[in-house]
Amino acid sequence: MENYVASAGGIMVPTDGNAKVQAHNSCSPDSDDSLSPRHTGIIAHADLSGLMAKLAENHTPPKILVLTCTDYRISASDFFNLPPGKAFIQKQVGGFLTRNLSAAAAFHASLAVAAGIKEVQDIFIMTHSDCAAAKIAVQFPKEGMVPQDMAKNADIETIQRYVLQVSDKIPWLSRIFYQMQNGGHPLPAEDLMAAHLGIESYKNLMGIKLFHNQTRTTSEMVDMGQVRVSLLHLDLGKKSKTNPDLYERMPALYEYDPITGQFFISRRCNVSDFDGVGLNCGYHEITPMDGAITDASEHLQIKYSDILLAP
Ligand SMILES: [Zn+2]
Repeated sequence: MENYVASAGGIMVPTDGNAKVQAHNSCSPDSDDSLSPRHTGIIAHADLSGLMAKLAENHTPPKILVLTCTDYRISASDFFNLPPGKAFIQKQVGGFLTRNLSAAAAFHASLAVAAGIKEVQDIFIMTHSDCAAAKIAVQFPKEGMVPQDMAKNADIETIQRYVLQVSDKIPWLSRIFYQMQNGGHPLPAEDLMAAHLGIESYKNLMGIKLFHNQTRTTSEMVDMGQVRVSLLHLDLGKKSKTNPDLYERMPALYEYDPITGQFFISRRCNVSDFDGVGLNCGYHEITPMDGAITDASEHLQIKYSDILLAP
């Protein structure tokens, strides 16, 4: 007789590692659109015993913390090629850090666990293109801009309040990025906003006292050689309008260099340069169309001094 354990949504999963999940969908084809109150149909982990064994292999807490966006397309474990239990992964909208961390109690507590108590050594902030939070930041840069008759205005205002806590430069940046987009820049204003709110988040993180019982800033820990911080921007790419198998702009992972203030294609792709973990890029599996942008790093650079601020 097989042993069963309860799983998410009450689905019974055989503990035999090779057995198929006993998930089923209770909706008949002619049922209405309303959801069953139970999570029937959710696919549970098919190999719970195998997962627990893998977790047991990792006795020590991970030394990696990844801060990235809530977006369902951003699977940090896949991009960083992380086995189970190898990193703290903190997802919040945009992957941004606000200026006043203590005002965000849940997030602050998460960082107190990972950075403070467990003393992570590698911190990654990863923003991405086509990001809802960046779109709201660039479209509604000032509080109160969201039209009250707009559908979902309450949700947009909630996200707007959050992004305004990341940077007080959002209205200025928004104007600059729209000027660039309207002037024929190859990246949309929202993607420039996402990458640059990443820079603001990076600066916010460096100034926060997260280590040594909240007596040392991240920046001090970096200077002491005890912590590394990387800002990444994941460009999901842009598909050709005429042929969805081709890309107008290739997906790529970019890394920010705080010394020069520039983004470049991450040299960590497919390279294990710290403790068994490498970044996993699917960059080579898709085809660029003629004239496609294969390196958007130069387009991510903003030379503020070169831009005339039109009134
Ligand atoms: Zn996002």
